[in-house]
Amino acid sequence: MSEAYVLVVEDEPSIAEVVSLYLRRARYNVQVVFDGRAALELIERRMPDLIILDLMLPKLDGYEITRLVRAQGDVPIIMLTSRRSETDRIAGLEMGADDYVVKPFSPQELVSRVRAVLRRARGSAPGVEERPLEFGAMRIDPQTRLVDIHGDEIQLTVKEFDLLWLLARHPRQVFTRQQLLEKVWGLSDYIDPSTVTVHIRRLREKVEADPSNPAHIQTLWGVGYKFEP
Ligand code: CA
Repeated sequence: MSEAYVLVVEDEPSIAEVVSLYLRRARYNVQVVFDGRAALELIERRMPDLIILDLMLPKLDGYEITRLVRAQGDVPIIMLTSRRSETDRIAGLEMGADDYVVKPFSPQELVSRVRAVLRRARGSAPGVEERPLEFGAMRIDPQTRLVDIHGDEIQLTVKEFDLLWLLARHPRQVFTRQQLLEKVWGLSDYIDPSTVTVHIRRLREKVEADPSNPAHIQTLWGVGYKFEP
């Protein structure tokens, strides 16, 4: 496996420095930029394997970058956010971030998040024996990680796909948010369970004909979620 290319977008030099130091030590190929516009220029030249993105940035903020990057594909994004603002975090996930880390954070923790997200994005492709699943107009292909509905390809992020695949592979089995965090995110101690809620909502908006009255991804109030084939 080649070295993963990680782009760090952070305007605070001390944070950018420590993050890149730890990532390089973990043998990632790291580029650091200090503002949003520079980040976009680099991304246009070569799409990173993962982006670590501060929310508050000069020129273009993290939300705007996420929106633009998401329009082009499903590269994993880990957001750096401040402790104070939960709404910021939720908004970041809504825009398509895969994960977030709250400042001040331990660089070790960030490195393990990077590892976990990359492992999922690259390696955790389901085994060869796994065949596409079809539910009415929806087709989920674990080999290509593509979902289509009536033949139209749906763009899902890495986590959205993992979540859908997990639920769909176990029809009618109820998963609690904690179970989904453990199975899809892997490091549940660090992640707010509302992450799951946000991803479920985004997934419904993409794959359900009527997201407010979902046919497949159903909520069992006070318990969790299940996939109804
Ligand atoms: Ca900042």
